[in-house]
Amino acid sequence: MLDSLLSDANQRLEKALRYVTLCEDAIERLKYPKASLTVSIPVRLDDGSLRMFQGYRVRYDDSRGPTKGGVRFHPNVTLDEVQSLAFWMTFKCAALSLPFGGAKGGITLNPKELSKFELERLSRGYIDAIADFIGPDVDIPAPDVYTNPMIMGWMMDQYSTIRRQITPGVVTGKPITMGGSLGRETATAMGAFFVMQAILPRFGLPPAGTTVAVQGFGNAGAVIAELLYRAGYKVVAVSDSQGAIYASQGLDIPSIRQFKESSRGIKAVYCQGTVCNIIEHEVLTNAELLTLNVDVLIPAALENQITAANANDIKAKYIFEVANGPITSEADQLLEAKGIHVFPDILVNAGGVTVSYFEWVQNRNGLYWSLEEVNRRLEAKMTEETEKIWAIAQELTISMRTAAYVHALNRLGEAIRAKGTRDYYVN
Ligand code: GLU
Repeated sequence: MLDSLLSDANQRLEKALRYVTLCEDAIERLKYPKASLTVSIPVRLDDGSLRMFQGYRVRYDDSRGPTKGGVRFHPNVTLDEVQSLAFWMTFKCAALSLPFGGAKGGITLNPKELSKFELERLSRGYIDAIADFIGPDVDIPAPDVYTNPMIMGWMMDQYSTIRRQITPGVVTGKPITMGGSLGRETATAMGAFFVMQAILPRFGLPPAGTTVAVQGFGNAGAVIAELLYRAGYKVVAVSDSQGAIYASQGLDIPSIRQFKESSRGIKAVYCQGTVCNIIEHEVLTNAELLTLNVDVLIPAALENQITAANANDIKAKYIFEVANGPITSEADQLLEAKGIHVFPDILVNAGGVTVSYFEWVQNRNGLYWSLEEVNRRLEAKMTEETEKIWAIAQELTISMRTAAYVHALNRLGEAIRAKGTRDYYVN
């Protein structure tokens, strides 16, 4: 029995199925996660007490290769959420033609409540609990919401300790000194930027004068805001989990990033330090940011931000999903009816997993690439797959989301058919 988030994700599959000829085996297989592991992780806290944490790892489908996907540390993590995120990873890796299936992991906690030592014990405890479920040829974790290179380094080290072999290829998004790839930290935003560069000129939107609002100021949101700012777009609003700031004449993103790093908040930006009062700004809520009258809206925070409840209030003409699953399938229909162009997560934010793939390749070869090499390959990959998905959307007169699913399904279907036994039994 499927529960809500995953069945919502499955709606996208259903819609795309109308446009592909897929063997029944593939359709049936793709509706269910291959394996879901739930673990309880005991962690010794700094005060000597013991606290149990709930963790998950889901391997959704491995028809195209070892499964791949991040690990999220967040209070809202549930098995249902992790399964949907693993579903999206399956389609993302196929859409980008990476030799991976899809997976995801998560631990239910507010990481801000733990000390650094507690976080390390938790990260290592998670790997102890899932070590038999992962591996460089089986399933490869990576960073996601509230996880970072430091945490990935602990995870890789723990796995290597368990296996008694240095195994850099088991986790991606590691610190550079532990086998991480140059360019991995900025890859999600960089990939989204390349997609936008391939798309926006087709709609006659040059950087100058194009207004943008970005929801979320984490690794993806802050970097895409800065890339757009530097390319000459007018970024008029940004937000973090505490709220949003807006200035019609555009925000100075590099200084906001600087202040966010020192103050852990964006609201304080223009009231402290030297940039105070240079730009007048308004304080908005995250919900208000989503309905601003801008050309481009970039949800770069969490899933389910645009739902049936607020879809009709959205005024942006173009939405690029840098977060995973920020728009529900119901909201998708409403936005489509309003003529809003949505560019889907499984394409737009795929730069992260693409450079994770590059990291894994470098780990296996033992030969490391320059930043220029990483970004050159990332741009080539993102542009090529964007063009292919665009062509499918034009040819079948369907949305970019459905086209991305069609593109991924064709690749997944081929892999499932190649391994299957249906022809033997049914023909
Ligand atoms: N967490 C990222 C995503 O959702 C990256 C996954 C990876 O690098 O494996 O795409």
